[in-house]
Amino acid sequence: MSNREFDLFVIGAGSGGVRAARFSAALGARVAVAEERYLGGTCVNVGCVPKKLFVYASHFRDELEDATSGYGWSVGETRFDWSTLRDNKTREIQRLNGIYEGLLRDAGVRHLDGRATIVDPHTVEVAGRRFTTEHILVATGGWPTVPGIPGAELAVTSNELFALDALPEKAVVVGGGYIAVEFACIFQGLGVDVTQLYRGPLFLRGFDADVRSHLAREVRGRGIDLRFERNVTAIEKAGAGLRAILTDETTLEADLVLFAIGRHPNSANLGLEDVGVRCNEKGAIEVDEYSRTSVPSIWAIGDVTDRINLTPVAIHEGVCLAETLFNDNPRSPDHENVPAAVFSQPPVGTVGLTEDAAREKHHEIDVYRSIFRPLKQTLTGGGERTMMKLIVDRNSDRVVGLHMVGPEAGEIVQGFAVAIKSGATKKDFDATIGIHPTLAEEFVTMRTPVEDED
Ligand code: FAD
Ligand code: NDP
Repeated sequence: MSNREFDLFVIGAGSGGVRAARFSAALGARVAVAEERYLGGTCVNVGCVPKKLFVYASHFRDELEDATSGYGWSVGETRFDWSTLRDNKTREIQRLNGIYEGLLRDAGVRHLDGRATIVDPHTVEVAGRRFTTEHILVATGGWPTVPGIPGAELAVTSNELFALDALPEKAVVVGGGYIAVEFACIFQGLGVDVTQLYRGPLFLRGFDADVRSHLAREVRGRGIDLRFERNVTAIEKAGAGLRAILTDETTLEADLVLFAIGRHPNSANLGLEDVGVRCNEKGAIEVDEYSRTSVPSIWAIGDVTDRINLTPVAIHEGVCLAETLFNDNPRSPDHENVPAAVFSQPPVGTVGLTEDAAREKHHEIDVYRSIFRPLKQTLTGGGERTMMKLIVDRNSDRVVGLHMVGPEAGEIVQGFAVAIKSGATKKDFDATIGIHPTLAEEFVTMRTPVEDED
């Protein structure tokens, strides 16, 4: 055992940091974790968890409409109360913060309250106290980016959304990524009049083209005013509300403007440059395949490394790091075939390659695509359509991409992700008997590839 106080000093008690700390302690390491804001990090406090609670809240409107429009229910007057949702959510998050505290304590991890900075490759400072350590793990996550335009300070980011005093009547959502799409749908479901602006020709860049266009059609069908090739150039006050000035010189008045234009790595003012830790031009800490930085005793995982910025990925990177450092088992995180969901309405589920990427990588592919009215909608007269898609490498018969826009897409794709990760072929899909009647059965009953559209 070294003379240093700790074997591992973790900076940031978010998804990745907490998992690395707990697993390392379980392997016998002496571990400390410093947290400056909230235990559990972004995901627990201002990310996945409160967001999903809001998604559930916003779905009830659909459920009520479906129930009354075709399923024989009649309900009395319905109303939505924002403060009830917000405060119940906050209580649940406080409960989770306590659970995280307990998890660290039970694992024997020393929790230090405050902002940590790196003094040298083996020393960290928190609230004026210095601690020596064999290894330092930077797991400081990311932070919302705000554009440098006039009036940007009048807008909010995802950080503030979870504690709004009141739900806006009209909102402008700027961006075309995960957060913008999810919050446009949450707001719309809660009864807010939503305009979403995206600077490019079609939102959700990086997702399969059919997913992107199908979702655009669906959210427009629900009443979101979705405008492409538009951005905000300035925001000003307009009475009690705000006025956004757009690139096409039109204006939009709203009570709230949300910037969801990406997040940047939380790597500034940590002391990284002084000790020689290299970052790329976006501020992401550069790491090798074992998450080691350019300084041998300093490691980094999660959003601060900007690899795949999802909670389960940060957790996986944390587990791999503990194995590498304290179990004599060097393990590099596996970033292949990571499934993901966008919790829009309807949601998106995806794993593997997009059609374009598959065509580039495998050259000869078959694409199976099905767009249909979900059974539930047959009695409601609703216009919603579900889209499901398989991409198959013709040479190996392996299913290399699976995508869905439709109810419970995240739940469905999580299961199919096991098959994709295990290298399942189209023949394996065909040999699997469906569960009837479900939406998911469509993935094992698609028999005819779509004609080549080129
Ligand atoms: P974080 O969880 O951000 O934790 C970093 C921690 O470090 C923070 O608690 C921070 O306070 C602390 N910290 C920073 N600097 C210091 C310092 N110097 N000293 C001490 N402490 C410090 N991912 C999903 O997989 N599914 C989702 O549905 C999902 N929804 C999301 C919704 C929103 C609105 C947002 C913003 C993100 C969402 N994400 C989702 C992404 C997910 O939250 C992140 O990928 C994940 O939290 C990254 O974990 P991390 O450990 O890298 O960092
Ligand atoms: P994303 O990177 O997903 O999307 C950012 C969006 O903002 C893109 O549409 C981008 O456009 C646009 N944009 C970038 N710069 C500007 C600008 N200056 N003006 C206008 N638009 C701009 O970031 P998010 O903030 O939505 O989310 C951050 C990350 O958090 C996600 O990438 C994801 O990893 C994670 N997350 C995961 C969720 C989930 O798993 N369900 C939910 C929420 C977040 P362009 O494409 O043209 O660059």
